[in-house]
Amino acid sequence: MRKGSEQDLLARDRQVLAEAMKIRFFPMVLCSNRGSIVRDLEGRRYLDFSASWAVASTGYGHPRVVRAVSRAVRKTSTNSPISIPCRATIELAERLVGMMPGDFPKKVWFGHSGSEAGDLIAKFLPIAKKRPKILTFVGGYHGQTLGAASLSGHTAQAAFGHAANVTKVPYPNPYRFPGDAQACVEENVGRIRELLQRSGEEYAGLLVEPIQSDGGVIVPPDGFLSRLATLCREYGLYYVIDEVKTGFGRTGTMFAFEHEGVVPDAVMLGKPMASGIPLSAVVGRREILDAVPSGHMMTTAGNPVACAAGLVTLNIIEDENLAERAGRRGEQLKARLLELAARFPSVGEVRGRGLMMGLELVHPESGDPDSGLARAVCYRAKQLGLIVFYVGTSSNVLELTPPLVVTEKQLGTGVRILAQALEDVLAGRVSGQDLEAYSGW
Ligand code: PMP
Repeated sequence: MRKGSEQDLLARDRQVLAEAMKIRFFPMVLCSNRGSIVRDLEGRRYLDFSASWAVASTGYGHPRVVRAVSRAVRKTSTNSPISIPCRATIELAERLVGMMPGDFPKKVWFGHSGSEAGDLIAKFLPIAKKRPKILTFVGGYHGQTLGAASLSGHTAQAAFGHAANVTKVPYPNPYRFPGDAQACVEENVGRIRELLQRSGEEYAGLLVEPIQSDGGVIVPPDGFLSRLATLCREYGLYYVIDEVKTGFGRTGTMFAFEHEGVVPDAVMLGKPMASGIPLSAVVGRREILDAVPSGHMMTTAGNPVACAAGLVTLNIIEDENLAERAGRRGEQLKARLLELAARFPSVGEVRGRGLMMGLELVHPESGDPDSGLARAVCYRAKQLGLIVFYVGTSSNVLELTPPLVVTEKQLGTGVRILAQALEDVLAGRVSGQDLEAYSGW
């Protein structure tokens, strides 16, 4: 084995990188990336429909991000805003406050990851509201640190996601619900109302994803988010929306909650907000974020380099109309995926919003989730030049979250590769042995 080759590096990766930090879908070592294109160590080129788990919304290596980050590093390599703030940190916080609806005082907390933002919610809601419990959803994913994991209801967190003060209720999934979309909402909201009628005064808040992405790209029926807002108002709960994956234009609006015009009390942000430089935030009511002074500090969170990247990312999203563009590209992608679905009975449903699309793969006869197919298709698509991952509590939903700068032509190419991958797998051209090491999650 040649030293420094892909095979060599993957062998070393197996030796030193903890399984705790991996979900692998295929063998690959990154060399470089630009726009919507990724290259591996062997010089092969791929179209990337993952955007590194919906992080690279402005595309890899956007020249304005590269310039802003380089300038920031030269000027102030880092600092800790805990004790000495800088202009970029303050300006970014002001911009974020200005982007949120609601006629009440707001502040911003900065972290590095969505998980840390989830931990803030787990820690601060009960204290701010002086009520012990939090309501979240089965299948939800809010992060892997202890507090965030306790708020999550994803199968991936089964080993940790238990906290006595967290109640998880079902999320409306129209695809698996026997009645129509309206009935699906009614059933869900009815269940939550019953719970709150019994013990509403124990609940500090409710945390929800506007689309359950890691849970399987589940888009709740229209009206669900606003019905939740009404319930939270009625029973005095804080209404918290997790926009870590959906935020910053991905679903066709700056934030996914805008599709229903709701006014959250706090919003979790992360992933794409600094184009890949680690940065997350919670923007919310002052009384929540000021509830415990010095109560959720990460030494380097909101540092000048990350905030410079955050500011330029916002400018790019605005100047290049990326949210509106994601809406348009999303329609183009959906149309192509529906054509593909018409060819393959194994595609149970195509769903999503903007450039967050999901393909639920099923056994055609029973309609049961087909995780084996999802696994093989991701593996085969990579061999054919397309990066795509799968999600879902049943591990059977291909998640398409390309960079928002993806072109229409690239969407066409990606869907053609996906169709070829499906065809190859269904024709038995991908061996089970190749796949064994890549069980995803
Ligand atoms: N919330 C949501 C909705 C997410 O999708 C994720 C990550 N997939 C997180 C929180 C956690 O973010 P991170 O991985 O940056 O900690």
